[in-house]
Amino acid sequence: AKKNGGNKAIFYSEKSMHSDVDRPRLEAHLRRAIEHKKIDVFYQPKMKVDTEVVFGVEALIRWTDEEFGNVSPAIFIPIAEETGFIQPLWELVMEKACEQVSKWNQSRSHPLSVSVNFSARQFLEPELMLQTVKKILIDKNLPPQNFEIEITESILLNNSAEIVQSLQTLQDQGISISIDDFGTGYSSLSYLKDLPINTLKIDKSFIQNINEDLKNTEIPEAIISLARGLHLDVIAEGVEKEHQKEFLLSKNCVLMQGYLFSKALSSSDFEQFLSNYEGQ
Ligand code: C2E
Ligand code: CA
Ligand code: CA
Ligand code: CA
Repeated sequence: AKKNGGNKAIFYSEKSMHSDVDRPRLEAHLRRAIEHKKIDVFYQPKMKVDTEVVFGVEALIRWTDEEFGNVSPAIFIPIAEETGFIQPLWELVMEKACEQVSKWNQSRSHPLSVSVNFSARQFLEPELMLQTVKKILIDKNLPPQNFEIEITESILLNNSAEIVQSLQTLQDQGISISIDDFGTGYSSLSYLKDLPINTLKIDKSFIQNINEDLKNTEIPEAIISLARGLHLDVIAEGVEKEHQKEFLLSKNCVLMQGYLFSKALSSSDFEQFLSNYEGQ
């Protein structure tokens, strides 16, 4: 792959990233970035569309390397998972995101909730994970009711008693559990009923397939009614088009996230977004 030639937003294909040349170097840079906390957290608003309220944010990690430019999390998260860097990376995101949202909430009448993406790795050492979560929420003065974790279905597929137990422990403290990319796992639905979860997040691929003449609505509709039947919340991600929003509203799915409202923003850009949106 090429080196940074003044162009900071270099796109890496899967192929170039897995070549022997880049990978060790990229790993070394990633390790250094984590050590020096040179990883940013961006915030994508989560909207309650019927009442026009920003009710929360999803914390999304951003890394700009001097040599490699902006590296997509879709590329470096898997590397972090393989190398074990995901543990310090997760702690970094937890600390930054909880601190920031707690700060924002000090001057808000309706507190924002913050969602953090958890990897399977976090559940390999559940005691450590639970302790760390507890400690950070206390340190940052963020009530557990304003904290949510996002996990993918694949984590639940193991259906190990230990994972269910740690989710239960989180939920007992008031933390919400959301199933990310819902519908893309090949899981049986029977497991959902007995798990400690609060929200199904409809994967963006299903939302993006909804076209102007409202074809391809079957899967989002099915997930919405499944959530309703199980008394779970449901949110749609990847909402980009007005007709997708209108369709979701017509099915009473009022929680949405996507470029139609905003991409993930730096903390200062998010403050600007909020003040424009909430008219302060
Ligand atoms: P995800 O959790 O499914 O996050 C949603 C991704 O979709 C984000 O990409 C977001 O910027 C993008 N997105 C949001 N709205 C739209 C839209 O309307 N249209 C389209 N086309 N895309 C939209 P991002 O930030 O590049 O993150 C990619 C993935 O990286 C995330 O997918 C998540 O799996 C992982 N990731 C990001 N931050 C973290 C983190 O802190 N920890 C862990 N473990 N994974 C993370
Ligand atoms: Ca997510
Ligand atoms: Ca997702
Ligand atoms: Ca995803």
